[in-house]
Amino acid sequence: MRLPAFVEELRHPSFHGRLLAGCHSGYLIAAAFAVLATAAVGFGLVPHGREFVALLIIKATTNTLALVALRRRWRFAVECMGLNTAADIVCMTAAVHLTGGVQSPLVAIYVIEVAVVALLSNLGVTLMVASGILLAFGAMGVLEVAGVLTPTPPAFTGPLTALKVAVAVGFAAVAIGIPTFFTAAILRRLRTRERQLEDRTAELLEAGQQQSVFLASVTHELRTPIHGISGLAELIASGVYGPTTDRQRQAATRIGHSAQGLVQLVDDLLALVRAEVGRVEPHPTRFEAAELVEQVCGSVAWMAETKGVTVAPAATAGEVCGDRRLLGHILVNLVANAIKFTPAGGHVTVTAATAGGALTLAVTDTGIGIPAHQRATIFEPFRQVDGGDLRNFGGVGLGLALVDRLATVLGGRVEVASEVNVGSTFTVTVPLAAAPAGSGGPGDGGELAAEGQPVEPA
Ligand code: ADP
Repeated sequence: MRLPAFVEELRHPSFHGRLLAGCHSGYLIAAAFAVLATAAVGFGLVPHGREFVALLIIKATTNTLALVALRRRWRFAVECMGLNTAADIVCMTAAVHLTGGVQSPLVAIYVIEVAVVALLSNLGVTLMVASGILLAFGAMGVLEVAGVLTPTPPAFTGPLTALKVAVAVGFAAVAIGIPTFFTAAILRRLRTRERQLEDRTAELLEAGQQQSVFLASVTHELRTPIHGISGLAELIASGVYGPTTDRQRQAATRIGHSAQGLVQLVDDLLALVRAEVGRVEPHPTRFEAAELVEQVCGSVAWMAETKGVTVAPAATAGEVCGDRRLLGHILVNLVANAIKFTPAGGHVTVTAATAGGALTLAVTDTGIGIPAHQRATIFEPFRQVDGGDLRNFGGVGLGLALVDRLATVLGGRVEVASEVNVGSTFTVTVPLAAAPAGSGGPGDGGELAAEGQPVEPA
């Protein structure tokens, strides 16, 4: 027979320790009540001594069965625990009946049972046990009223004596003490776990930071040799090292372009890692927005030519104040994507405009477009639009993640509007910075390197 899911959940290894604790507490509770019952019966406060002994034997038997089943990891361990809990309810109700029925002071032991079950199991099991208790208690009351069960006179009746008070206080101590003990133990364990988790999180954060710093150094070191390759290829193609055939020139030019692509990738990785570890800070300077747009378009002209796509710079903004280097990096990525995802014969337009104290850079293409459901995920690192022949376009999925991070660093945002097979427009809006004291004119700080790559920060 399949048990309800909340009972099945108790089979999970994470509950094993708690169920064992439940068994151990069963002995503790039974022992405490044995002492009290013996005292009460011995002092003549409660009749039915023999019946109490019988109840204790039942409880000890089912508790031991459950304990052995749990220790030996029997398949039916949870069922044995269920039997033990059912025995608890029956024994408790019998003890209540023997000490005055619905007027018995022992009614409080139900609270101990529910509290311990709640602390050691789950909500479903707790509700089930609480319902079982209510049912048993109700049935006892009905049977007493119907005369099927002979009502017992309430315990502790008659004149108050020091002995009665002592037994009642002892009972109250057990009723309050046991749930308190379990609550305290569980809270202590939770706090220890919380501290361990905090320590682990701190360690992981530290390791992540170290990894990012390592990645930043490696990518930084990679730039120099790739620049060397790109420069030498350019020199070979231009004939500095002697005459070259057409095929050699073409090959050298391709080597140069591939090297530029690699530099772009390394730059993106480096900037992304730096942005992740919070090492990118905006350095605003004054510069001509149109000049930046021209420069970026110039730097990717070779890509556009290879693809057969036209790139039109159309800046209307004049002099602006902002981080030219970071804005250049954003724009290079957006324009390179626009070219990459636009078929031959298509057009890319790059605009820069100011309005309401903000600079808006927009790159519009007549390319393949992006399906609506994927427009949010493309800004996550290493995410690309699925399906189709996307792999033909290359790339690793870092560009837009970087654009998004850098826009955030600049206090702005990036948005995309797109229609599949019609084209896309990526818009970056950043607040214009206040001109820093002593900042120079256009081109001050943040130059773009000769081949159009943003200059690496020192
Ligand atoms: P990569 O270009 O290296 O794949 P990006 O992060 O720059 O990585 O872009 C993520 C994905 O977003 C791309 O793989 C592509 O699917 C989609 N994408 C980006 N720009 C465009 C665009 N202009 N037109 C169509 N799809 C685009």
